[in-house]
Amino acid sequence: MINRFFLLLASLLSLLLYSCDRSYETSYGNSKVIVIASEHLSKPDGNKYLFYKSPEGYTWRLIDAKQLNISITKGYEYTILAKPIIGSDFFHVVKILNKEYKKSSNIPKLTFDLKTLTAESDEIAFADRLNDADSVAPGIIRIDSLYVVDGDIVISEDQLADYLDVKSGYKKTHYWSNNTIYYTYAPGFTKASTASSAISTLESQTSLHFVYGANSNGYIEFCDGSSTYSTATGKTGNKQQIFLKPTCSSGSAMHEIGHAIGLIHEHRRPDRNAHVVVYDNNIIETEKPQFTLMSTNEAVCVGDFDLSSIMMYSSMAFSKNGNPTILTTEGAAFNSQRDSLSSGDLVGISAIYGPPYHRLESTRTITRNEVTGIYEYYEYYDTYTIRFYSNSDYTNNVMITTPRPISFYYEDYYYNTNINQFCTESYVYNVTIPAGCYSYNITTLYGCENYVMSDVSEYSMKSLSLF
Ligand SMILES: [Zn+2]
Repeated sequence: MINRFFLLLASLLSLLLYSCDRSYETSYGNSKVIVIASEHLSKPDGNKYLFYKSPEGYTWRLIDAKQLNISITKGYEYTILAKPIIGSDFFHVVKILNKEYKKSSNIPKLTFDLKTLTAESDEIAFADRLNDADSVAPGIIRIDSLYVVDGDIVISEDQLADYLDVKSGYKKTHYWSNNTIYYTYAPGFTKASTASSAISTLESQTSLHFVYGANSNGYIEFCDGSSTYSTATGKTGNKQQIFLKPTCSSGSAMHEIGHAIGLIHEHRRPDRNAHVVVYDNNIIETEKPQFTLMSTNEAVCVGDFDLSSIMMYSSMAFSKNGNPTILTTEGAAFNSQRDSLSSGDLVGISAIYGPPYHRLESTRTITRNEVTGIYEYYEYYDTYTIRFYSNSDYTNNVMITTPRPISFYYEDYYYNTNINQFCTESYVYNVTIPAGCYSYNITTLYGCENYVMSDVSEYSMKSLSLF
């Protein structure tokens, strides 16, 4: 899979090389379309930075104001055509294509003033116990008999094996089928209005449906907690829990639901090094695993790296000495936000849950269907295909433009002739379908139901369903 971000945002140079609009490229040579917000950021030494992004991008980045000779009016957003000046870092502004009043450009909360920053106070499991913690593996610390993954995902020793054998566990993440998440409130739960407000926001802005009630195929139980955390990344298939502390905001609840639907912390994305610098020496020793870069085998990047993500931590996260643990590559610091889903968060969620929507379809090819004397044969192949649709009625087949991870439940119900009994074998696995597909063949399963004088001689019914 190609990470578009590597191409798009690896450096300013890549921005210059990347064309988002071919028609402008042919008209103006190597000029590029970029969007500039009028808000700026001043360095203590007086240097001014402007916020820029590509028109289809989600992330604002900083550019030295001197590099762009453009006079701007506060409150406006400009779409400009800019041409790099060969041999320098500077742009010529060829043309202002659009000027729009946009006071609320959702630029990230960047600053050069560390005193204005706060570290996350929610979403840290056992914050008062970090001194007692041992680091056991990348991304995992141990407190008493519990293991904490990424600060706010708490697992038991039984679950640890699953996390360890894939280094940090995200390959073992599974996703909720049909965009549907079942949930309940623990008896006496006092934060129902916070959880319900988080759920309403997610339902109104994404394709996710939340259904109240326990489900035998897996559900979330919301509970009161002394800290705020989730007991899983993605769907476990059993009961999984989200604990909310008394002061937890609905934004922090959305962050934890984000984990439960399969989202990781933004600062561990495989492409983060092109956007931020992590300062190891400033991180609390036991929390260093939280800053480990994830590989492209462990996490799929969708959309631009997003400082405004509700899954992003602030520059002061887990600082042991009051100095920043993460800064942008320009050296700016940032606060995290837990107010709303960023546009990048929405893109990430729709990459997993749609639109486009996916459906599992199967066709059966019967290879043998006969009765010969005392023998009876029925043998077949089932071919399973995922097909993508723009609508939830599944009538308009479309292509996906981002990779789609999908979790499958495989079951084989078969007759074991050694013990003369029917047995079941089942497991859950993921397939990440590459961008560019209208449909994708998942697997072909062989099945048979054969009898001798009405006694089973061979029987294997394999099936695949969405997890
Ligand atoms: Zn978290």
